[in-house]
Amino acid sequence: MDQKVVDELARIVGDEFVSTRDDVLLTYSASASIGYDSVRPGAIVRPGSTQEVADILTVANKYKIPVTPRSGGSSLQGEAIPRPDGLVIELLRLKDITVFEDLRSVRVGAGITFGRLDKFLNQYDLWVPVYPESALVCTLAGNVAVNGAGPGSSTYGCIAEMVLGLEVVLPDGTIIQTGTEGNPNAPGPFLRYAFGPDLTGLFIGSLGILGIITSVSVKAFKKMHHFHYETYGFDRAEQTEKFLMDLKQNEIGVLFASIYEGEILSFFMDMVEVEFGIPKHEWPPFTISAILGRVREDQLKSDTELTKRICEELGGHVIGISELPRGEWDKRMWTFARTSYLHGWHWRILYHHQTPSNWHRSIEEIWAVMDKYGLLGHTAGFLTGHGSYNFYPHLYFDPQDREEEMKVREAHKELAQRLFKTGAVPFKLAPYWIEDVEEMKDYLNLIKTLKRVMDPNNIMNPGIFGEM
Ligand SMILES: Cc1cc2nc3c(=O)[nH]c(=O)nc-3n(C[C@H](O)[C@H](O)[C@H](O)COP(=O)(O)OP(=O)(O)OC[C@H]3O[C@@H](n4cnc5c(N)ncnc54)[C@H](O)[C@@H]3O)c2cc1C
Repeated sequence: MDQKVVDELARIVGDEFVSTRDDVLLTYSASASIGYDSVRPGAIVRPGSTQEVADILTVANKYKIPVTPRSGGSSLQGEAIPRPDGLVIELLRLKDITVFEDLRSVRVGAGITFGRLDKFLNQYDLWVPVYPESALVCTLAGNVAVNGAGPGSSTYGCIAEMVLGLEVVLPDGTIIQTGTEGNPNAPGPFLRYAFGPDLTGLFIGSLGILGIITSVSVKAFKKMHHFHYETYGFDRAEQTEKFLMDLKQNEIGVLFASIYEGEILSFFMDMVEVEFGIPKHEWPPFTISAILGRVREDQLKSDTELTKRICEELGGHVIGISELPRGEWDKRMWTFARTSYLHGWHWRILYHHQTPSNWHRSIEEIWAVMDKYGLLGHTAGFLTGHGSYNFYPHLYFDPQDREEEMKVREAHKELAQRLFKTGAVPFKLAPYWIEDVEEMKDYLNLIKTLKRVMDPNNIMNPGIFGEM
């Protein structure tokens, strides 16, 4: 990157927080997205305040430099990979946390991870119950930018449902605050839908194409201390889907529920049963691993009994292996995603949402595509919020085999198109939905129009939309 630009950046943040060193650029050329090629940026800058972010974007605009905001770098679909010779703005120095106990909310800087926030909120007996498996490295701001979800989402929905307001620096350097904090006299974040149209939503799932989120205000809840961990077995997909729907219809406090096909579970158990301490078992065709959670013990007891009854009335059975859901909930960094790194797997992931009753449609398409391309992979996901199921199927490849990797990329595209036909939806601006799904053209054109107005030089994450 031109030294003149680097000097201007250094004047904003100080020499210590700008770098063009080879080893630093190499570090920021990749992320946790192992199935994507690395790209070397031109410089890294690490602002320490919202005003510095604004000043940096003013410079980037002046020189029309492509910008990639980066928080934890834990995203899995190449979202945080920079543009060649572009500028990475890393936000981990924004570390403020302010709790508003009376408002049941908390505001955090863009550098705060879920893990750090959870530790902080422990002292108030509060938590933010949507807690991704990558919680120790993933920030709330980054998760809002991808509209993520995680354990807890089966009750509370995606992170979007938690957000009360955002502070955002627009591409031209303007700083805006959405939600009640838009009024500087407000006591804090207590309502997202203030001041007319929901501008907060514009930035959720936007992958940083419209601005940089510098702080996030979210709901905080009384921490739960009562949990029940269980696995439930079924022979048929319809029973399994109905079980999930009945849990919701009966308002059971299911914090996390995930359906595993028998063959997938057996495949995983070959790898992880020792790590998780899961007993050997002949898994049924379909297993639901579930965590029920409630604030009060009597509520949990009643939910546990009702869940068992619903399972048995549908023809299923309680398996009685609690170590699987316990591993998913208590040891989130020991999850399958982490495990797959340990075992050296490479994959492409295809996040989407489906209805629980259509769970089998996603499964059918995933297997059909894997069979067609002769690939290995797995189906995985969990119940999310009011009535959806968040899927994240993986397609594996051998990183030494370029031909196989290219096959996975083709299969990924085809799978996106086929899933769309089943009624599945993305929850962020993932490039494969944008490029490959013709039916969303008008909707996406509106977003492009907004981007042209807000970011006329197309500096913000231009890789997502390509040429404007
Ligand atoms: C082991 C493992 C488990 C995972 N489990 C989950 C899970 O349970 N749930 C889940 O949702 N995800 C999960 N992920 C994926 C990942 O953690 C999420 O995508 C996460 O939200 C990314 O946050 P981050 O802070 O790392 O953001 P980054 O990866 O740094 O960035 C993600 C995207 O947001 C943009 N961005 C980052 N910060 C900002 C900002 N401040 N303003 C505007 N745009 C910004 C970036 O440009 C990029 O496009 C997992 C990943 C791993 C490695």
